[in-house]
Amino acid sequence: MVVMPSSVTPSSVTPSSDTPAGDAATRAGGGDAPPEVRKESGQREVFCGLTSIVWLHRRMPDAFFLVVGSRTCAHLIQSAAGVMIFAEPRFGTAILGERDLAGLADANEELDRLVRDLLERRPEIRTLFLVGSCPSEVIKLDLARAAERLTQQMAGRVRVLNYTGSGIETTFTQGEDQALMALLPHLPASDEEQLLIVGTLADAVEDRFTTLFERMGLPRVRSLPPRRSTDLPPIGKGTRLLLAQPFLSATARALAHRGGQLITSPYPFGVEGSRLWMEAAAASFNLDPAAVAGVLDPLVERGRRAIEPHRQVLRGKRLFLMPDSQMEIPLARFLARECGMELVEVGVPYLDRQLMAAEQALLPAGTPLSEGQDVERQLDRVRAERPDLVVCGLGLANPLEAEGLATKWSIELVFSPIHGCDQAGELAELFARPLRRRELISFA
Ligand code: SF4
Repeated sequence: MVVMPSSVTPSSVTPSSDTPAGDAATRAGGGDAPPEVRKESGQREVFCGLTSIVWLHRRMPDAFFLVVGSRTCAHLIQSAAGVMIFAEPRFGTAILGERDLAGLADANEELDRLVRDLLERRPEIRTLFLVGSCPSEVIKLDLARAAERLTQQMAGRVRVLNYTGSGIETTFTQGEDQALMALLPHLPASDEEQLLIVGTLADAVEDRFTTLFERMGLPRVRSLPPRRSTDLPPIGKGTRLLLAQPFLSATARALAHRGGQLITSPYPFGVEGSRLWMEAAAASFNLDPAAVAGVLDPLVERGRRAIEPHRQVLRGKRLFLMPDSQMEIPLARFLARECGMELVEVGVPYLDRQLMAAEQALLPAGTPLSEGQDVERQLDRVRAERPDLVVCGLGLANPLEAEGLATKWSIELVFSPIHGCDQAGELAELFARPLRRRELISFA
C-alpha cells in the first residue's frame, strides 16, 4: 500500500488554523473575483509522509531514518527510493511483527536492541530519526519516549529524534514539516541578523541562491534543514524566514514563535515567483533595489527565454491538478501566468491561507480551487472535463493514462531541482514533456 488507506478521516490531516469548518464553499482570494474553494472529505489518494525520507536522507547524509512500521512501509520506501539498494542506505524499517502488533512482545526492547546494533555498525550516524507509521500509531508505541531513552543511552554520541510519517496523520510532503519540527527544539537561540531559507533545496540550487543573495549585499544566509544534521542554524529576533517550500505550515509557525519574522511572498517557482521571492527577502533587509535589480534582471531575461519553447507547447492547454504535494497552487500560478495554461481545477490536500495568500492573489480570477479530496467525485470531474494534462499521484496516473489522459506525477516535482529563475525552463519542460510524448505517439 503506497496510498493512504480509505479509512483515514479527513480530520486527521492537519488543517489550516484559519480554515473555516464545514463543507460550504468559501471565497479564497485571487484576482478581482476570488475563486470558490470546494471543500471535500472522502477517500483520498495521496502518499503518506514517509515518502519525504527520500529527499531528506539526501539532504542530511549524516542522518539515518528508521521507520518503525510494517512490511508495507518498508516496500513504500524501497520503491520510492529504489536506487539506494545499490549503496549503503541511510534509511531502513524496523518491522513490527505479529507478536509486536498483538502486544505479545515488548516492542520497546526490540527497538532498543535494533538501534544499538545499527549504531554499532554505522558509527558515522550523528542523528537518528525514529519515524512513526500507521502500525506504530495503532499500537501506541511511544517513540518520543524511545528517542529520549536512546539519546541518553548514546551519551551524546548520537541524537535520537522522532516524528510521524504515518498516513493517518500526514500527507506526502507533511513528512518534511514533521521532521523539521523534530529538529526545532535543538536550534540554538541567537538574535543575530540572518536570512533563513526553510525547506529542502537541491545543494546546487541552494548554493546558487546563496551566491545571488551575497551579490545583492546579504552576507548571512542559512538553511533549514542543514546539510549536516548537527549543524543547526540559530533562530531568534534577527532571523527573517524565507520559505522555499509551501508545505511547511507547522515549522513556519514554530520558527515564528521563536522570534523569526516570516517573509510573505510567492514561492520560487518560475521566473515571476523566483523574482518576487528574492525581492521580498531583499526588501526585508532594506537592500538597495537597484543592486537587487542588477542581479535579477539578467536571470529573469534568461529564464523567460528558457521557458519560451515549452510555452509554445503548453499555451492554451487545459490543466487539472489533483491534491497531493501541497505545491499545486504555486505551480498552477506559474503554469497559468508564465506558460499560458488554462486551469480547470487546482486541488490541495489542505489550504493554509496565510502561507498561500501571496500565491492566491496571483491566480487568474475565478480559478476553481478544491481542498481535501473525495477521489471518486474528483475523478468524475476529470473525466467530464477531459483536460489536456492531469497532475496527480502515482496511484492515479496509470489508470488515467489508460483512459487516454496525459499525466504528470506530482512526486517528480519534489525530487527535481525546480526552484529559481535558472530552473524555470526545466520546470516548464517537466509539464511539456508528457504533452510532447502524447503528440509523438499520436503521429506514430
Ligand atoms: S505509514 Fe501507513 S500509509 Fe504509509 S506506507 Fe506505512 S501503512 Fe501505508
